[in-house]
Amino acid sequence: MLKRRRLLLIDDDDAHSKIFQEMLINADGGPFQNDTVGTLARGCERLKQKDIWAIFANLSLPDSQGLNTLDNIQKAAHGVPILVLAGAEEQAIATEALRRGAKDYLLEDHIDAYSFARALRNMMERETAEEGMFTEKERAQVTLNSIGDAVLCTDTEGNITYLNIVAEQMTGWSCEDAQGERLAQVFQIVDGVTRKVSPNPMELAMRTNKTVELSANCVLIRRDGSESAIEDSAAPIHDRSGEIAGAVIVFHDVKMSKAITEEMVHLAQYDSLTNLPNRVLLTDRMNQTIARARRNGTRAAVIYLDLDGFKQINDSLGHDIGDKTLQSVAARLSSCVRNSDTVSRQGGDEFVVLLSEISHPEDASVMAKKILNALTLSHSLGDTSLHITLSIGLSTYPEDGADAETLLKNADTAMYQAKKNGRNNYQFYTKEMNIRAIERQNVEADLGFALEREEFVLHYQPKINLATGQITGVEALVRWVHPNRGLVPPGEFIPIAEECGLIMPIGRWVLREACRQVKEWEGSGLQVVPVSVNISSLEFRSGDFVESLSAILKGTRLDPNYVELELTETVLMRRVESANAVLRALKCTGVRLAVDDFGTGYSSLSYLKRFPIDTLKIDQSFVRDISTDPDDAAIVTAIITMARSLKKRVVAEGVETEEQLRFLQAHGCEEAQGYYFSEPLNAKRFAILLEAGMTSFIPTANEEETNEVNVP
Ligand code: C2E
Ligand code: MG
Ligand code: MG
Repeated sequence: MLKRRRLLLIDDDDAHSKIFQEMLINADGGPFQNDTVGTLARGCERLKQKDIWAIFANLSLPDSQGLNTLDNIQKAAHGVPILVLAGAEEQAIATEALRRGAKDYLLEDHIDAYSFARALRNMMERETAEEGMFTEKERAQVTLNSIGDAVLCTDTEGNITYLNIVAEQMTGWSCEDAQGERLAQVFQIVDGVTRKVSPNPMELAMRTNKTVELSANCVLIRRDGSESAIEDSAAPIHDRSGEIAGAVIVFHDVKMSKAITEEMVHLAQYDSLTNLPNRVLLTDRMNQTIARARRNGTRAAVIYLDLDGFKQINDSLGHDIGDKTLQSVAARLSSCVRNSDTVSRQGGDEFVVLLSEISHPEDASVMAKKILNALTLSHSLGDTSLHITLSIGLSTYPEDGADAETLLKNADTAMYQAKKNGRNNYQFYTKEMNIRAIERQNVEADLGFALEREEFVLHYQPKINLATGQITGVEALVRWVHPNRGLVPPGEFIPIAEECGLIMPIGRWVLREACRQVKEWEGSGLQVVPVSVNISSLEFRSGDFVESLSAILKGTRLDPNYVELELTETVLMRRVESANAVLRALKCTGVRLAVDDFGTGYSSLSYLKRFPIDTLKIDQSFVRDISTDPDDAAIVTAIITMARSLKKRVVAEGVETEEQLRFLQAHGCEEAQGYYFSEPLNAKRFAILLEAGMTSFIPTANEEETNEVNVP
């Protein structure tokens, strides 16, 4: 998946935040996402989400000053790079901040889009360099641990700095314990014949600045006192300027069997939990496969798979069951493939299967189906038996990439898409997936600015009493007036806002704006009706929703009787007890509660009875075919009857035709909403509608054949 960088600006100076936002629009390496907070407390709170890539922090904040600000951010940020902004006269403080780990600083008289952009670029370059160093170190580490010789390093003083796995085994010291110990303590050697302590090879190597072979008959005394005959050599290590920085001693058990050497190699290339090839070996095999396929003009495929909801298995059933699940998955996967194919574990609950020779891309989908079938059969793990599902992404050589990295990345993208498509399925990679991912990122980046640029508007759709034609309520529906895209409907950005957390401030804005608008209508003498606001599950579960609702009601001074919250069934049916507690607290504020899109979730009737719900809104999908599909007609009739017996109001959504309207009237539905009466309108047009009323839209017995234009 593509890397998205999210920046956090902690600064209460609006001028800075403005320059910062402007700079980000054009900054290389983007698109960037960003958040701005004005206090240290809010910054630390925001950092808890652990998704911030870099922090720009003003040291002077309303609730913290100077280096105290940096110290607190560092505590909350766990290694996220920090750039500090300091006052024009605070050069000394800024320098001290660098010493304490800040990556860079800007002084206030130098803050402009150019210096922000340069600081950002430096951060990215540093990250690339650090990643390079990390890879280099990893590679050295893997190499050191995969060779059969013991390797031990010391500094110039003769204190241990490193042991590889074999050295750990042979000396009986763990690298951790040995670090900082004297060489003679960890590496005790004597002459096997005379039993005299052998001269320290390291000293000689450093003194002569040459590699030295060890004396013959050398015996190593292990930490537990056991002995082994070794052969070894020592060499000096130089630093960049050519000075001696320490020494490395390489030794091996003279009798150490080939089997142990092989075991070491195995450890470096295989995953210890499942005994499958790990990422290192997979990459190696992929490179070989690609080279062969290129020579012979054959194809290969990569199957990327990820278990659905594995975290829940681990969290709820324990790590032991989690581990067993992974082992069972590994065993089944291995039994699905041919000997020439490679099954590997990438880490966590992700596995990759490399099909080294396929004739058509379809062969890969045959294998994907086979894997889905094999893995979804119940797994018996000791006393427990477990059902799992998984999502699979496929990429093929040469169509989807010419090297291992690209093929893996694209199979991963396809897997992500499979997850989005509802899990337990497989998807081939397509170029559009990348385009869609980028497109989605753009929306996300723009969404970050939309609130402060005041790009959201509310449209209002009336609810009509079907007996009298009176407007009984209005639903507020959010739209995004995007500078380039025009009017964006909520379906295209609410799910993204939910994923990236922006739904919280957006939801709060919608609620406040809806309340403010009704209050304004009331003030201008209109006969107002209750306004319904859609609440997303994240808001409902946020913990401070009741509080922020109360604050908005207080702030706008709107009577809570004029507010209704629409919640979907799935929100209510998940974790029913806590949902009920929140509902009761909401009810206490005086607002009304409605279940939106009713009939699409899996409501349990007994819960519905217990919940303090006032209204059920029948989902549009049932209303649409009410007059043609007997099943839908039956469902709608049943919902109306049930709502009556539970003493709840019922509103039909998506009424578009007179036929639908008549059906609903005939079956005793009280209220409805839909294009038949009115589309959602902007505030101005809705005010006109509110004043004029809509009674003429209800057909009565003598008016049956009128054909009016319904949308004002
Ligand atoms: P919803 O709450 O079920 O809203 C009804 C949707 O049906 C609205 O779409 C409305 O324009 C549309 N609609 C109304 N009458 C008819 C009709 O006769 N025929 C058809 N085909 N459609 C009709 P919209 O505005 O695109 O909103 C879609 C969904 O987005 C809403 O479904 C709601 O779930 C969500 N949404 C809208 N505003 C907000 C908001 O402020 N916050 C949150 N969290 N979600 C919102
Ligand atoms: Mg709604
Ligand atoms: Mg609805």
